[in-house]
Amino acid sequence: MTKVGFIGLGNMGAPMAANLVKAGCVVHAYDRSDVAVAKAVNNGCLSARSAADAASNADFVITMLPAGSHVKSVYFDADGIIESASHDATFIDCSTIDVETARSVIGAASESGFAMVDAPVSGGVAAATKGTLTFMVGGEDEAFARAKPVLEKMGKNIVHAGAAGNGQVAKICNNMLLGITMIATCEAFNLAEKLGLDAQTFYDISSTASGQSWSMTSYCPAPGPLESAPSNRDYQPGFAAAMMLKDMRLAQEAAHKAKAATPLGAQSEALYALMESAGKDNLDFSGVMRLIKGDL
Ligand code: NAD
Repeated sequence: MTKVGFIGLGNMGAPMAANLVKAGCVVHAYDRSDVAVAKAVNNGCLSARSAADAASNADFVITMLPAGSHVKSVYFDADGIIESASHDATFIDCSTIDVETARSVIGAASESGFAMVDAPVSGGVAAATKGTLTFMVGGEDEAFARAKPVLEKMGKNIVHAGAAGNGQVAKICNNMLLGITMIATCEAFNLAEKLGLDAQTFYDISSTASGQSWSMTSYCPAPGPLESAPSNRDYQPGFAAAMMLKDMRLAQEAAHKAKAATPLGAQSEALYALMESAGKDNLDFSGVMRLIKGDL
C-alpha cells in the first residue's frame, strides 16, 4: 500500500489528501493548524505530529503550502522533511511558489539523494475535490515517472514541463497571460458599452472574431453573455483576485531576475494590486471589470 506524508491541509491540500485516501493510499497528514489535521482525520487520514513525523516512512511526501518560505521551512528546518524522510522517498511540492526557491529546494533534495518534482496545479478547490486538477511538473524524467501515478490519483492532466522549476514557470507564465487578457477583455467591453454597443452584441461579434480569448468565451467579465461566469454572480469567485495577484507578483519577480520585459504583466499586477488596496481582492479576478468601470 502506498504511504504518503501530506503537509499543508488548507483549501486545496485537504481535498487532495482525501482523494489519496479514496484511492487506497495510507496518508499521514500534517498542518500547523490542529483544526485542519482534525478535518483530514475525518476524511480518513492519519494524524501526524510534525512535518518530520508525516515524512518518516513515507514513499511520497507531498507539500501544498502558501509560499516559498513555508516550503523551505518544512524541507530544511531541523525537524524537516529532508532530515527525516526514508532514503528512497519521492518528494512532490504542489504549492505555487517562486521559481528560484523551487529550483533550490529540488537541488538540495537531489544532493541529499532524493527524487523531487515541483508540481503546481491549475484548477481550484472544485477541481481538487473532484480529482480533476492539472499538474504542471518540473524535474528529472525518473522523478516525473515516479510522481505521475500518485498525481493521477488527484488530477486528470499530468504534464511534464521539463527540468526542475519548469512546472512553476508554466504556471506563472500561463497565469500572467490570463491576468493580462482578462484586463484587456474588460477594457474592450467597457469601451463598447460607453460607445453604445451592448455586451451581448459585442460578445456575439468578438467571440467569433480575432478578439476572442478564453477570458471572453469561458469567463466573460461583462455580466450577461455567459451564464456560468462569475460576472453573473456579483463576481463571487471562482479564482479570487488575491490569488491572481500572488501569481502576477511571482511572474514579475521572475521576470526581473531573468531580465525579461513584461510591461503588460507589470501594468496588470498594478491593477490587481488596486483591487487589494480597495479591500476587494476577495472578488473573482474578473471583478477587475468593476475597477475599469470606476465602480469598485
Ligand atoms: P491555504 O492557505 O488554504 O492552505 C495552506 C495550508 O498550509 C494552511 O492550512 C496552513 O495552516 C498550512 N501551513 C502553512 N505553513 C505551514 C507549515 N510550516 N507547516 C504545516 N502547515 C503549514 O492555501 P490553499 O488555497 O490550499 O493553496 C495552497 C497552494 O496552492 C498555494 O501555493 C496556492 O497558491 C496554490 N493554489 C491554490 C488554488 C486555490 O484555488 N486555492 C489554486 C491553484 C493553486
